[in-house]
Amino acid sequence: RAKKDGPGRVLAYQPYMHAEALDHLSLRGDLQRALRDGEFRLQYQPLIRLADGKPVGAEALIRWYSPTRGFVSPVDFIPIAEEFGLIIDIGQWALETSAVQVARWRRDFPDLGLNVNVSGHQLVHPRFADNVMKALAIAGLPSSAVTLELTESVLMSEPDLGKAALHQLRGLGVQLSIDDFGTGYSSLAYLRELPVDELKIDRAFIARAELTGEDLALVRTIVELAQILGLRVVAEGIENAAQLAALRRLGCGYGQGYHLCRPTDAAEVPAKLLRASIAVLG
Ligand code: C2E
Ligand code: MG
Ligand code: MG
Ligand code: MG
Repeated sequence: RAKKDGPGRVLAYQPYMHAEALDHLSLRGDLQRALRDGEFRLQYQPLIRLADGKPVGAEALIRWYSPTRGFVSPVDFIPIAEEFGLIIDIGQWALETSAVQVARWRRDFPDLGLNVNVSGHQLVHPRFADNVMKALAIAGLPSSAVTLELTESVLMSEPDLGKAALHQLRGLGVQLSIDDFGTGYSSLAYLRELPVDELKIDRAFIARAELTGEDLALVRTIVELAQILGLRVVAEGIENAAQLAALRRLGCGYGQGYHLCRPTDAAEVPAKLLRASIAVLG
């Protein structure tokens, strides 16, 4: 019988699962090789202050260009990397690479911050805080320039373990963000206790933000909640001028999205940062 999970995962032959299981196993090998052979890349998407169009940061987004599979979305390979424990090394690579990159950009954009996505598996790793500080030391990037993005569902699934790590990192000066906010189940009480600095409103809400009525009211409520709790609020997935205008009217502090700037290769980012305010101010 096939054992479902755990490090000692054993796969016995079952005709119906053969192709899937084989692909799963070969994915593991491919992911290990990908890190070794440099098949991962990072793109960066600017975070823009909506009041004046100032670029305040860049979110690192991992890409995998596999010689055999072609482009593989992080939505598809991150869960596999987590399952096989490979996310620790892949996540550390993303952290170190993006920290070095942003430290370089800060010579021309001194206040630019870095947002990095972090898996729950990294968060609960006993050396996570050390690993983060190591990346910052390698890059020469101050901890205050870094915001770690954790999804709401990760924070809710590891409430105690996660909270300790978050407090430790906060104590070291690193900032914390709840990604995809509104899709999980954070209670208000839990949100108050968490040492977070930023909420990122999930793009599912923003997609309908140009409408009046309930959708807009929901976004307004998250913006007000962030204000009450003293948190930065970022709208992700801004795709058109109407959404942007609605968010500015609501007083949403920051935004990201294709309408402002697409995720971009590192070489193109400085030029995009210089032009970022044009999309906001028109
Ligand atoms: P996320 O952190 O919520 O990132 C936002 C996603 O929305 C990105 O997808 C981005 O390319 C996309 N996006 C940005 N603006 C728009 C827009 O205007 N419209 C639409 N439709 N989409 C937009 P991407 O790059 O495919 O990443 C997907 C997810 O993969 C991320 O969601 C994040 O959870 C995860 N991920 C990416 N890089 C890393 C990483 O280095 N480590 C970890 N653990 N997870 C990562
Ligand atoms: Mg994110
Ligand atoms: Mg998100
Ligand atoms: Mg997302």
